[in-house]
Amino acid sequence: MDFRFSEEQEKFREEVREFLRQELPKDWDGTGYGEEGATDIGQRITSKLAERKWLAMAWPQEYGGLNAPHMQQLIYNEEMSYQGAPGAYSMGVAWVGPAVMLYGTEEQKQRFLPGITSGQDVWCTLYSEPEAGSDLASLQTRAVQDGDDFVINGQKIWTSGAQRSHWGWLAARTDPEAPKHKGISTLAVKMDTPGITMRPLINMAGQSGFSEVFFDNVRVPKENLVGELNRGWYQVAVALDFERSGIQAYAGGRRTLERLVEFVQEHPDETVRRNPTVRNRLADRAVELAAGTNIAYRIPWMQSKGIIPNYEASISKLFGSEFGQRLALTGIQLLGMYGGLEPGSKYAPMKGRLERSYLQAVSSTIAAGTSEVQRGIIATRGLGLPRG
Ligand SMILES: Cc1cc2nc3c(=O)[nH]c(=O)nc-3n(C[C@H](O)[C@H](O)[C@H](O)COP(=O)(O)OP(=O)(O)OC[C@H]3O[C@@H](n4cnc5c(N)ncnc54)[C@H](O)[C@@H]3O)c2cc1C
Repeated sequence: MDFRFSEEQEKFREEVREFLRQELPKDWDGTGYGEEGATDIGQRITSKLAERKWLAMAWPQEYGGLNAPHMQQLIYNEEMSYQGAPGAYSMGVAWVGPAVMLYGTEEQKQRFLPGITSGQDVWCTLYSEPEAGSDLASLQTRAVQDGDDFVINGQKIWTSGAQRSHWGWLAARTDPEAPKHKGISTLAVKMDTPGITMRPLINMAGQSGFSEVFFDNVRVPKENLVGELNRGWYQVAVALDFERSGIQAYAGGRRTLERLVEFVQEHPDETVRRNPTVRNRLADRAVELAAGTNIAYRIPWMQSKGIIPNYEASISKLFGSEFGQRLALTGIQLLGMYGGLEPGSKYAPMKGRLERSYLQAVSSTIAAGTSEVQRGIIATRGLGLPRG
């Protein structure tokens, strides 16, 4: 086993770093919090990344990728997340496109994938409902066949990015008589279709990143059904594994940890610099970061061998999200009362990075499946234990 990246991979990493040095403002602090014009910067960077075909570089060339090795895609994701580059993350690239490639028809691949690789089409994920989150198979939004269309009625919730999305990746019930896992299908829905309305939800950090989405007799052409009718549950399960596979939590966490270490090193009070609790906590986070990074590296390695990640993705998601919470707590405690200051305050250390990530980290163990759900997957699919 060789843990080193190859010379070619290191060269590519340097190329991504150079790109970011050129494209990000000089004072970019890696989070995007509080910076002016993050959206504009994101759009500019996205179109340049699309020109280089970096957005989905591991995809086949015929679908707008570069056929690049999965490890190269990981290096790209790692560098983009470390810098907190806006526009780096997209549901289209991370799981909608891969699911379309696995289950869609050739016509659908030609129709949906170029918009993702060009960065022009933003996708959101329409799974969760007020009564169906962890038990997603209980979802009630109906898709009823009528002529050339499906007619959609129901409600989704916690839909991240719904308001700026062009397309939605929808899971809906197509057979209410079948056992709940066997009556769900996945459809691509244009978000400006008549009958779709949205209501933004504000999170505890004061941001409106997600929304409720309502469907009132929304007509979706049958050609937008992706994969086999009533087999959608299995496609959603695979797409969720793609969703849980990321390096982002660790790459962003490394940056935060480095900033915290700098904060301690530069602290005027020697008792802070030498404080054993501070040192031990930072050391613990460094150990977790090293372990978690290797857990995350395993996923692209599996993909490069043609293996679809399964419970391994849950291990990475579980450890990464809980690591993020521990790191944010360590940071907030270390900064003391100042740590609670919001971005924009001139007294906020690290431009309020810790205040924001402390509040946002809370939801990371809920989004994409809660920690309890991940532990259940690891226990059953990973360890072979019976269902609880
Ligand atoms: C920031 C954020 C972004 C999100 N973005 C999206 C999105 O874009 N699209 C989308 O469709 N959804 C999205 N979600 C929704 C997310 O997937 C659900 O919130 C999550 O799956 C949990 O479902 P729930 O909220 O209904 O909680 P519930 O399922 O009601 O769970 C409540 C509690 O019960 C526990 N629990 C439930 N079942 C079990 C079990 N079997 N064993 C042990 N404990 C259990 C849970 O762990 C949790 O602690 C997002 C959520 C967040 C927080």
